[in-house]
Amino acid sequence: MQNIKYNKTKIIATIGPATSEVPMLKKIIKAGVNVCRINFSHGTLDTHLQVVKNIREANKVLGTHVAILGDLQGPKLRIGEVEGNKMLLKKGSTITLTTKPTVSKDNTIYVKHSTLARDVEIGESVLLDDGKLELKFTKRVDRNTLEAKVINGGELSSNKGFNLPSTTLSIDCLTEKDLIDLDFAIKHEFDWIALSFVREAADINKLKKILSKHKSEACVVAKIEKPQAVQNLDEILEVTDAIMVARGDLGVEMPMEQVPIIQKKIVEKCVESSVPVIIATQMMESMITSPTPTRAEASDVANAVMEGADAVMLSAETSVGKYPINTIEAVERILGTTELGWDVYNKLSEPDPTSETFLSDEICFATVTMSNAINAKAILSMTQTGYTAYKIASGRPNCDIFIFTSNRRLLSRLSLVWNVRAYYYNRKTNTDDTVKDVIDLLKKDKLLKKGDIVVNTAAMPVRENRKTNTLKISQVR
Ligand code: PEP
Repeated sequence: MQNIKYNKTKIIATIGPATSEVPMLKKIIKAGVNVCRINFSHGTLDTHLQVVKNIREANKVLGTHVAILGDLQGPKLRIGEVEGNKMLLKKGSTITLTTKPTVSKDNTIYVKHSTLARDVEIGESVLLDDGKLELKFTKRVDRNTLEAKVINGGELSSNKGFNLPSTTLSIDCLTEKDLIDLDFAIKHEFDWIALSFVREAADINKLKKILSKHKSEACVVAKIEKPQAVQNLDEILEVTDAIMVARGDLGVEMPMEQVPIIQKKIVEKCVESSVPVIIATQMMESMITSPTPTRAEASDVANAVMEGADAVMLSAETSVGKYPINTIEAVERILGTTELGWDVYNKLSEPDPTSETFLSDEICFATVTMSNAINAKAILSMTQTGYTAYKIASGRPNCDIFIFTSNRRLLSRLSLVWNVRAYYYNRKTNTDDTVKDVIDLLKKDKLLKKGDIVVNTAAMPVRENRKTNTLKISQVR
């Protein structure tokens, strides 16, 4: 893993035509990408399959463990085709919304959601085209038809998104398309699966049930982009493996001025609960067409680091943008500079004595505080489930975190987690030999040198696969 840029805050890059070939993937990985996102809202399963193969090829050549995250589109509502791909909605005018398939024109818009008239309340708002246009429902005409007044007018084109911020839709969180995409993601052993428009814990449970039925080890990211999800964050945190602050749709579903405070609160809760958190969307938006970011974008990325995010995510910047490498390089520099210049460390909360995991949580807590107190160079932890890695990372220790595991699926999965680098290790031996082995591995990669102090954690005896119960301080010889 030489010559690869590395920061504590991870970088997720959405892969698209601009980055899907092996040489380009190798370049973005070397520039600092830790996770590749495949967005099922675009492309076909054939193109996705080629991207998966290419990411794995790049990993093989570079000796990296870049993870694959599949992002399910979810129940995103859209309008249908617009005649001539253009219609004008005049402020103050009355519009008819129909769920009967037709080409939208004049003052009639076709919405692809058959139970719309049943789901909404009169007086509620509907936002079109990422919130650029707004309507308010004024009348339910019949079971397929509603009338609405144009509050913010403008031009509308085909297939634009249709957001109902205050409506609880009678629509499944996993659409037919999602189930097909999910099947693909399971078959091709994606590391992470993101679920869009999550409303409550039950949505995540439903996805997890399907994963477990297929014996899939993929972990789940709950995308927070609906007001109901913000409200139900505590119950979602209990069941999800990670959270994404999906600011694109969140800023449409809720007033955009609330997004910064919601982001900050979500990050705080996630770190406290040891659940990895991703900040997504418009981080380097101007770099889709410009080789340098705006100062506001640089501040936005730095702010995500200062708040304590595990990862920042790029969307169109790396999938279809003109400057994917410049974008990654700029993000990488902002992350590194902010981590050096700002105290993002020491966040571990005191373990809960009533928790089932109290004893191993205490070890993780002590590992973080002790590594800081003795100015350790690194924490070296053994884990089979990844639990210790999540727990120690959420404590945000000052030093490096290296994870050793014989669970191959963990190697790439943990690439999403703050400052965690994972190594394969499967020797079942005594504590002394294990400690020596893992130190030697890191010395070989020039990540440790003689005299460095390290903190090891393990579950002893190694053969029995117990929870973490051992903490040891060693000096590298
Ligand atoms: C978002 O809305 O911010 C997001 C990440 O979702 P998508 O890219 O699927 O719209």
